[in-house]
Amino acid sequence: MARERHAGLSAVLDAIRLDDGVTQTTLTDRVGLGRSVVAERVTQLQQAGLILSGERGPSTGGRAPRKLSLNPDAGFVLGVDIETTELVVGAANIAGVILSSRRESIDARHGPDEIMSTVATLAKAVIDENAGAGNLLGAGVGIPGPVDFDAGAPLEEPLLPGWAGYPVRDTLSRLWPVPVWVDGRANLLALVEVVANPRAARAENLLYFGGGSSTAAALITGGRLYRGAHGRAGSVGHIAVPEAGMMSCVCGRVGCLDAVASRWAIARDGLLLARTGRSTALARTLAETGAVEPYDITLAADQGDVAALRLIERSVGVLGRALANLVSFSAPDMLVIGGGVARARDYALDPVLAAFHERLPSEVTEDLIIEFSVLDDLVSGMLGATQLAIGELFNKTNVARLLASAAAGRADGTPPAR
Ligand SMILES: [Zn+2]
Repeated sequence: MARERHAGLSAVLDAIRLDDGVTQTTLTDRVGLGRSVVAERVTQLQQAGLILSGERGPSTGGRAPRKLSLNPDAGFVLGVDIETTELVVGAANIAGVILSSRRESIDARHGPDEIMSTVATLAKAVIDENAGAGNLLGAGVGIPGPVDFDAGAPLEEPLLPGWAGYPVRDTLSRLWPVPVWVDGRANLLALVEVVANPRAARAENLLYFGGGSSTAAALITGGRLYRGAHGRAGSVGHIAVPEAGMMSCVCGRVGCLDAVASRWAIARDGLLLARTGRSTALARTLAETGAVEPYDITLAADQGDVAALRLIERSVGVLGRALANLVSFSAPDMLVIGGGVARARDYALDPVLAAFHERLPSEVTEDLIIEFSVLDDLVSGMLGATQLAIGELFNKTNVARLLASAAAGRADGTPPAR
Protein backbone atom coordinates (compact mmCIF):
# COMPACT_ATOMS: atom_id res chain seq x y z
CA MET A 1 0.00 0.00 0.00
CA ALA A 2 2.80 2.37 0.92
CA ARG A 3 4.35 1.72 -2.47
CA GLU A 4 1.11 2.67 -4.28
CA ARG A 5 0.72 5.77 -2.14
CA HIS A 6 4.29 6.84 -2.91
CA ALA A 7 3.78 6.23 -6.64
CA GLY A 8 0.62 8.37 -6.50
CA LEU A 9 2.35 11.21 -4.60
CA SER A 10 5.23 11.09 -7.05
CA ALA A 11 2.92 11.19 -10.10
CA VAL A 12 0.98 14.15 -8.67
CA LEU A 13 4.18 16.11 -7.91
CA ASP A 14 5.60 15.39 -11.38
CA ALA A 15 2.39 16.46 -13.11
CA ILE A 16 2.31 19.74 -11.16
CA ARG A 17 6.00 20.32 -11.87
CA LEU A 18 5.72 19.86 -15.62
CA ASP A 19 2.31 21.47 -16.22
CA ASP A 20 1.87 25.10 -15.21
CA GLY A 21 -1.90 25.39 -15.13
CA VAL A 22 -2.81 21.96 -13.76
CA THR A 23 -5.90 21.75 -11.53
CA GLN A 24 -7.18 18.89 -9.41
CA THR A 25 -9.63 18.02 -12.21
CA THR A 26 -7.04 17.90 -15.02
CA LEU A 27 -4.66 16.13 -12.67
CA THR A 28 -7.04 13.15 -12.45
CA ASP A 29 -6.67 12.63 -16.22
CA ARG A 30 -2.94 13.25 -16.17
CA VAL A 31 -1.93 10.74 -13.52
CA GLY A 32 -4.50 8.04 -14.33
CA LEU A 33 -5.74 7.64 -10.74
CA GLY A 34 -9.27 7.85 -9.38
CA ARG A 35 -10.67 11.24 -8.34
CA SER A 36 -10.80 10.40 -4.62
CA VAL A 37 -7.25 9.00 -4.64
CA VAL A 38 -5.96 12.16 -6.35
CA ALA A 39 -7.84 14.33 -3.83
CA GLU A 40 -6.25 12.40 -0.98
CA ARG A 41 -2.72 12.73 -2.40
CA VAL A 42 -3.21 16.46 -3.06
CA THR A 43 -4.35 16.97 0.54
CA GLN A 44 -1.37 15.05 1.84
CA LEU A 45 1.05 17.15 -0.24
CA GLN A 46 -0.67 20.37 0.86
CA GLN A 47 -0.40 19.35 4.50
CA ALA A 48 3.31 18.65 4.05
CA GLY A 49 3.61 22.17 2.60
CA LEU A 50 4.89 20.95 -0.77
CA ILE A 51 2.06 22.24 -2.96
CA LEU A 52 -0.29 25.21 -2.99
CA SER A 53 -3.75 25.66 -4.35
CA GLY A 54 -4.03 29.08 -5.97
CA GLU A 55 -6.26 31.05 -8.33
CA ARG A 56 -9.13 29.31 -10.09
CA GLY A 57 -8.53 27.75 -13.51
CA PRO A 58 -11.02 27.66 -16.42
CA SER A 59 -14.44 26.22 -15.55
CA THR A 60 -16.11 23.50 -17.57
CA GLY A 61 -19.42 24.06 -15.79
CA GLY A 62 -19.86 24.53 -12.06
CA ARG A 63 -17.26 26.08 -9.80
CA ALA A 64 -13.88 26.39 -11.48
CA PRO A 65 -11.15 24.22 -9.92
CA ARG A 66 -8.11 25.86 -8.35
CA LYS A 67 -4.72 25.70 -10.01
CA LEU A 68 -2.11 23.67 -8.18
CA SER A 69 1.51 24.70 -7.92
CA LEU A 70 4.66 23.72 -6.07
CA ASN A 71 5.23 25.72 -2.89
CA PRO A 72 8.27 27.96 -3.50
CA ASP A 73 8.85 28.13 0.26
CA ALA A 74 8.97 24.36 0.78
CA GLY A 75 12.77 24.19 0.83
CA PHE A 76 15.55 24.32 -1.71
CA VAL A 77 18.02 22.17 -3.63
CA LEU A 78 21.63 22.74 -4.64
CA GLY A 79 22.80 22.46 -8.23
CA VAL A 80 26.52 21.94 -8.88
CA ASP A 81 27.84 22.13 -12.42
CA ILE A 82 31.46 21.07 -12.78
CA GLU A 83 32.66 22.08 -16.23
CA THR A 84 36.23 21.52 -17.37
CA THR A 85 37.18 25.15 -16.72
CA GLU A 86 34.30 26.51 -14.69
CA LEU A 87 32.33 25.63 -11.59
CA VAL A 88 28.82 26.95 -10.95
CA VAL A 89 26.95 26.27 -7.72
CA GLY A 90 23.40 27.50 -7.25
CA ALA A 91 20.24 27.04 -5.21
CA ALA A 92 16.71 26.63 -6.54
CA ASN A 93 13.37 26.24 -4.82
CA ILE A 94 11.37 23.07 -5.58
CA ALA A 95 9.56 24.89 -8.39
CA GLY A 96 12.98 25.16 -10.10
CA VAL A 97 13.37 28.93 -9.66
CA ILE A 98 17.01 29.86 -9.12
CA LEU A 99 17.49 31.69 -5.80
CA SER A 100 21.20 32.47 -6.02
CA SER A 101 24.39 31.19 -7.62
CA ARG A 102 28.17 31.50 -7.50
CA ARG A 103 30.79 30.69 -10.08
CA GLU A 104 34.51 30.27 -10.15
CA SER A 105 37.13 29.41 -12.76
CA ILE A 106 38.62 25.97 -12.18
CA ASP A 107 40.70 23.38 -13.98
CA ALA A 108 38.98 20.01 -13.53
CA ARG A 109 42.17 18.34 -14.75
CA HIS A 110 43.74 19.20 -11.37
CA GLY A 111 41.73 16.28 -10.01
CA PRO A 112 38.68 15.82 -7.83
CA ASP A 113 40.14 16.58 -4.37
CA GLU A 114 40.87 20.21 -5.24
CA ILE A 115 37.53 20.67 -7.07
CA MET A 116 35.49 19.10 -4.23
CA SER A 117 37.02 21.55 -1.80
CA THR A 118 36.02 24.49 -4.07
CA VAL A 119 32.52 22.99 -4.40
CA ALA A 120 32.29 22.85 -0.60
CA THR A 121 33.31 26.52 -0.24
CA LEU A 122 30.89 27.83 -2.90
CA ALA A 123 28.06 25.61 -1.64
CA LYS A 124 28.51 26.85 1.93
CA ALA A 125 28.14 30.44 0.73
CA VAL A 126 25.04 29.56 -1.31
CA ILE A 127 23.46 27.61 1.59
CA ASP A 128 24.12 30.51 3.99
CA GLU A 129 22.54 32.97 1.53
CA ASN A 130 19.37 30.87 1.47
CA ALA A 131 19.04 30.28 5.19
CA GLY A 132 15.50 31.69 5.07
CA ALA A 133 14.37 29.48 2.19
CA GLY A 134 13.55 26.40 4.25
CA ASN A 135 15.53 23.20 4.51
CA LEU A 136 18.13 22.04 2.04
CA LEU A 137 16.38 19.01 0.54
CA GLY A 138 18.87 17.51 -1.91
CA ALA A 139 21.64 18.23 -4.43
CA GLY A 140 22.37 17.46 -8.06
CA VAL A 141 25.90 17.42 -9.48
CA GLY A 142 26.99 17.50 -13.13
CA ILE A 143 30.32 16.10 -14.32
CA PRO A 144 31.82 16.96 -17.75
CA GLY A 145 32.15 13.31 -18.71
CA PRO A 146 30.39 9.95 -18.46
CA VAL A 147 29.07 8.92 -15.06
CA ASP A 148 28.04 5.69 -13.36
CA PHE A 149 24.76 7.06 -11.99
CA ASP A 150 24.19 4.15 -9.59
CA ALA A 151 27.64 4.56 -8.06
CA GLY A 152 27.53 8.39 -8.07
CA ALA A 153 31.01 8.40 -9.59
CA PRO A 154 32.59 9.36 -12.93
CA LEU A 155 33.59 6.72 -15.47
CA GLU A 156 36.94 6.75 -17.27
CA GLU A 157 37.45 10.02 -19.18
CA PRO A 158 41.00 10.55 -20.49
CA LEU A 159 40.68 14.34 -20.34
CA LEU A 160 39.85 14.20 -16.62
CA PRO A 161 42.69 12.30 -14.96
CA GLY A 162 42.02 11.11 -11.42
CA TRP A 163 38.22 11.35 -11.64
CA ALA A 164 37.35 7.78 -12.70
CA GLY A 165 35.69 5.99 -9.79
CA TYR A 166 36.10 8.99 -7.46
CA PRO A 167 33.20 8.86 -4.95
CA VAL A 168 31.72 12.29 -5.81
CA ARG A 169 28.27 11.47 -4.38
CA ASP A 170 29.59 9.97 -1.15
CA THR A 171 32.09 12.80 -0.63
CA LEU A 172 29.41 15.47 -0.97
CA SER A 173 26.85 13.47 1.06
CA ARG A 174 29.24 13.75 3.99
CA LEU A 175 29.21 17.55 3.62
CA TRP A 176 25.45 17.95 3.30
CA PRO A 177 23.01 15.74 5.20
CA VAL A 178 20.78 15.28 2.14
CA PRO A 179 20.59 12.92 -0.85
CA VAL A 180 23.03 13.77 -3.66
CA TRP A 181 22.78 12.64 -7.29
CA VAL A 182 25.64 12.79 -9.80
CA ASP A 183 25.19 12.67 -13.56
CA GLY A 184 26.86 13.56 -16.85
CA ARG A 185 26.29 17.13 -18.07
CA ALA A 186 24.57 15.99 -21.28
CA ASN A 187 21.82 14.37 -19.19
CA LEU A 188 21.42 17.53 -17.11
CA LEU A 189 21.27 19.75 -20.20
CA ALA A 190 18.58 17.47 -21.66
CA LEU A 191 16.56 17.72 -18.41
CA VAL A 192 16.67 21.51 -18.37
CA GLU A 193 15.74 21.67 -22.06
CA VAL A 194 12.49 19.86 -21.22
CA VAL A 195 11.71 22.45 -18.56
CA ALA A 196 12.70 25.48 -20.65
CA ASN A 197 11.33 24.55 -24.07
CA PRO A 198 7.60 23.66 -24.34
CA ARG A 199 8.17 21.72 -27.58
CA ALA A 200 10.80 19.61 -25.87
CA ALA A 201 8.38 19.05 -22.96
CA ARG A 202 5.78 17.72 -25.40
CA ALA A 203 8.18 15.37 -27.19
CA GLU A 204 7.57 11.74 -26.19
CA ASN A 205 11.13 10.80 -27.24
CA LEU A 206 13.74 13.54 -27.03
CA LEU A 207 17.33 13.10 -28.16
CA TYR A 208 19.78 15.69 -26.85
CA PHE A 209 23.21 15.97 -28.39
CA GLY A 210 25.95 18.11 -26.98
CA GLY A 211 29.54 18.26 -26.06
CA GLY A 212 31.41 18.42 -22.81
CA SER A 213 35.05 17.42 -22.86
CA SER A 214 33.78 14.48 -24.86
CA THR A 215 30.80 14.22 -27.23
CA ALA A 216 27.71 12.95 -25.41
CA ALA A 217 24.04 12.31 -26.06
CA ALA A 218 21.00 11.92 -23.82
CA LEU A 219 17.65 10.29 -24.48
CA ILE A 220 14.47 11.22 -22.61
CA THR A 221 11.50 8.92 -23.20
CA GLY A 222 8.11 9.40 -21.54
CA GLY A 223 9.57 12.21 -19.43
CA ARG A 224 12.38 10.04 -18.02
CA LEU A 225 16.05 9.84 -18.90
CA TYR A 226 17.06 6.59 -20.51
CA ARG A 227 20.05 5.62 -18.36
CA GLY A 228 21.00 2.11 -19.43
CA ALA A 229 22.85 -0.33 -17.18
CA HIS A 230 24.25 1.44 -14.07
CA GLY A 231 23.15 4.74 -15.64
CA ARG A 232 26.04 4.70 -18.06
CA ALA A 233 24.15 5.44 -21.30
CA GLY A 234 24.98 8.41 -23.51
CA SER A 235 28.71 8.42 -24.01
CA VAL A 236 29.33 8.51 -27.75
CA GLY A 237 32.68 10.30 -28.03
CA HIS A 238 34.65 7.15 -28.68
CA ILE A 239 32.41 5.44 -31.24
CA ALA A 240 34.31 4.69 -34.45
CA VAL A 241 33.65 6.98 -37.42
CA PRO A 242 35.19 6.41 -40.86
CA GLU A 243 36.17 10.09 -41.20
CA ALA A 244 38.58 9.73 -38.25
CA GLY A 245 40.60 7.10 -40.10
CA MET A 246 43.78 6.41 -38.13
CA MET A 247 43.69 9.68 -36.19
CA SER A 248 44.72 9.28 -32.54
CA CYS A 249 42.28 9.96 -29.77
CA VAL A 250 42.97 10.91 -26.15
CA CYS A 251 41.56 7.50 -25.14
CA GLY A 252 44.52 5.76 -26.75
CA ARG A 253 42.54 4.30 -29.65
CA VAL A 254 42.34 5.59 -33.20
CA GLY A 255 39.33 6.51 -35.32
CA CYS A 256 37.04 7.95 -32.59
CA LEU A 257 34.34 10.58 -33.19
CA ASP A 258 36.11 12.79 -30.64
CA ALA A 259 39.37 12.58 -32.62
CA VAL A 260 37.78 14.66 -35.41
CA ALA A 261 34.77 16.47 -34.02
CA SER A 262 35.18 17.10 -30.27
CA ARG A 263 35.89 20.49 -28.77
CA TRP A 264 39.59 19.64 -28.36
CA ALA A 265 39.89 18.23 -31.91
CA ILE A 266 38.36 21.37 -33.41
CA ALA A 267 40.65 23.57 -31.30
CA ARG A 268 43.64 21.45 -32.43
CA ASP A 269 42.70 21.89 -36.10
CA GLY A 270 41.99 25.59 -35.62
CA LEU A 271 45.43 26.03 -34.08
CA LEU A 272 46.97 24.29 -37.10
CA LEU A 273 45.11 26.67 -39.45
CA ALA A 274 46.46 29.59 -37.42
CA ARG A 275 50.05 28.36 -37.27
CA THR A 276 50.25 27.54 -40.97
CA GLY A 277 48.65 30.86 -41.87
CA ARG A 278 45.88 29.14 -43.82
CA SER A 279 43.43 31.13 -41.72
CA THR A 280 44.43 34.77 -41.38
CA ALA A 281 41.67 35.46 -38.84
CA LEU A 282 42.80 32.58 -36.58
CA ALA A 283 46.47 33.55 -37.00
CA ARG A 284 45.48 36.98 -35.71
CA THR A 285 43.58 35.41 -32.75
CA LEU A 286 46.59 33.27 -31.91
CA ALA A 287 48.91 36.28 -32.03
CA GLU A 288 46.57 38.32 -29.81
CA THR A 289 45.46 35.73 -27.23
CA GLY A 290 48.07 32.97 -27.48
CA ALA A 291 45.40 30.32 -28.09
CA VAL A 292 42.62 29.22 -30.43
CA GLU A 293 39.36 28.18 -28.76
CA PRO A 294 36.51 26.48 -30.65
CA TYR A 295 34.39 29.62 -30.42
CA ASP A 296 37.20 31.64 -32.05
CA ILE A 297 36.67 29.49 -35.15
CA THR A 298 33.00 30.48 -35.28
CA LEU A 299 34.01 34.14 -34.88
CA ALA A 300 36.56 33.75 -37.70
CA ALA A 301 33.86 32.24 -39.93
CA ASP A 302 31.67 35.26 -39.08
CA GLN A 303 34.44 37.46 -40.52
CA GLY A 304 34.29 35.50 -43.77
CA ASP A 305 37.36 33.36 -43.10
CA VAL A 306 37.00 30.49 -45.57
CA ALA A 307 39.39 28.04 -43.85
CA ALA A 308 37.56 28.45 -40.52
CA LEU A 309 34.22 27.97 -42.24
CA ARG A 310 35.44 24.78 -43.96
CA LEU A 311 36.68 23.43 -40.62
CA ILE A 312 33.27 23.98 -39.00
CA GLU A 313 31.45 22.45 -41.96
CA ARG A 314 33.71 19.41 -41.95
CA SER A 315 33.41 18.84 -38.18
CA VAL A 316 29.65 19.35 -38.12
CA GLY A 317 29.32 17.06 -41.15
CA VAL A 318 31.06 14.27 -39.19
CA LEU A 319 28.87 14.97 -36.14
CA GLY A 320 25.80 15.02 -38.40
CA ARG A 321 26.53 11.56 -39.80
CA ALA A 322 27.18 10.18 -36.29
CA LEU A 323 23.94 11.83 -35.16
CA ALA A 324 22.07 10.21 -38.05
CA ASN A 325 23.11 6.83 -36.59
CA LEU A 326 21.75 7.82 -33.18
CA VAL A 327 18.49 9.07 -34.75
CA SER A 328 18.23 5.87 -36.75
CA PHE A 329 18.54 3.80 -33.60
CA SER A 330 16.45 5.82 -31.13
CA ALA A 331 13.76 7.31 -33.47
CA PRO A 332 13.22 10.53 -31.51
CA ASP A 333 10.32 12.93 -32.20
CA MET A 334 12.66 15.80 -31.49
CA LEU A 335 16.39 16.36 -31.60
CA VAL A 336 17.96 19.18 -29.61
CA ILE A 337 21.52 20.13 -30.47
CA GLY A 338 23.42 21.89 -27.71
CA GLY A 339 27.01 22.62 -26.74
CA GLY A 340 29.51 24.16 -29.11
CA VAL A 341 27.54 23.07 -32.19
CA ALA A 342 24.64 25.22 -30.98
CA ARG A 343 27.01 28.18 -30.67
CA ALA A 344 27.96 27.67 -34.35
CA ARG A 345 24.30 27.30 -35.31
CA ASP A 346 24.44 29.58 -38.35
CA TYR A 347 26.92 27.19 -39.94
CA ALA A 348 25.79 23.95 -38.33
CA LEU A 349 22.24 23.41 -39.52
CA ASP A 350 22.93 22.87 -43.22
CA PRO A 351 25.70 20.25 -42.74
CA VAL A 352 23.52 18.38 -40.20
CA LEU A 353 20.51 18.41 -42.54
CA ALA A 354 22.69 17.31 -45.47
CA ALA A 355 24.00 14.38 -43.40
CA PHE A 356 20.46 13.41 -42.39
CA HIS A 357 19.20 13.51 -45.99
CA GLU A 358 22.15 11.41 -47.04
CA ARG A 359 21.80 8.79 -44.29
CA LEU A 360 18.13 8.61 -43.19
CA PRO A 361 14.84 7.65 -44.87
CA SER A 362 12.84 10.75 -45.89
CA GLU A 363 9.93 9.77 -43.55
CA VAL A 364 12.32 10.05 -40.62
CA THR A 365 13.77 13.44 -41.57
CA GLU A 366 10.34 14.88 -42.43
CA ASP A 367 8.83 13.98 -39.04
CA LEU A 368 11.82 14.91 -36.91
CA ILE A 369 11.78 18.28 -35.17
CA ILE A 370 15.34 19.65 -35.00
CA GLU A 371 16.22 22.59 -32.79
CA PHE A 372 19.28 24.14 -31.25
CA SER A 373 19.25 24.41 -27.48
CA VAL A 374 17.29 27.42 -26.23
CA LEU A 375 19.68 27.80 -23.32
CA ASP A 376 23.16 29.14 -22.85
CA ASP A 377 25.31 26.17 -21.93
CA LEU A 378 27.17 28.21 -19.29
CA VAL A 379 24.25 28.51 -16.86
CA SER A 380 22.08 25.63 -18.00
CA GLY A 381 24.32 22.94 -16.48
CA MET A 382 23.63 24.29 -12.99
CA LEU A 383 19.91 24.62 -13.80
CA GLY A 384 19.96 21.02 -15.01
CA ALA A 385 21.65 19.88 -11.79
CA THR A 386 18.84 21.46 -9.74
CA GLN A 387 16.28 19.78 -12.02
CA LEU A 388 18.02 16.44 -11.50
CA ALA A 389 17.73 16.87 -7.72
CA ILE A 390 14.06 17.97 -7.87
CA GLY A 391 13.14 15.11 -10.25
CA GLU A 392 14.84 12.54 -8.02
CA LEU A 393 13.31 13.98 -4.83
CA PHE A 394 9.87 13.60 -6.46
CA ASN A 395 10.66 10.02 -7.48
CA LYS A 396 8.45 7.43 -5.77
CA THR A 397 11.44 5.89 -3.99
CA ASN A 398 12.36 9.22 -2.35
CA VAL A 399 9.02 10.97 -1.89
CA ALA A 400 8.43 9.75 1.68
CA ARG A 401 11.75 11.26 2.75
CA LEU A 402 10.89 14.51 0.94
CA LEU A 403 7.58 14.79 2.80
CA ALA A 404 9.37 14.31 6.11
CA SER A 405 12.10 16.90 5.30
CA ALA A 406 9.57 19.46 4.06
CA ALA A 407 7.48 18.99 7.21
CA ALA A 408 10.62 19.35 9.36
CA GLY A 409 11.48 22.56 7.48
CA ARG A 410 8.06 23.97 8.37
CA ALA A 411 8.51 23.01 12.00
CA ASP A 412 11.81 24.97 11.89
CA GLY A 413 9.84 28.11 11.09
CA THR A 414 9.54 28.01 7.31
CA PRO A 415 6.41 29.94 6.23
CA PRO A 416 3.45 27.55 6.06
CA ALA A 417 1.55 26.73 2.86
CA ARG A 418 -0.81 29.49 1.83
ZN1 LIG B 1 38.63 7.87 -28.29
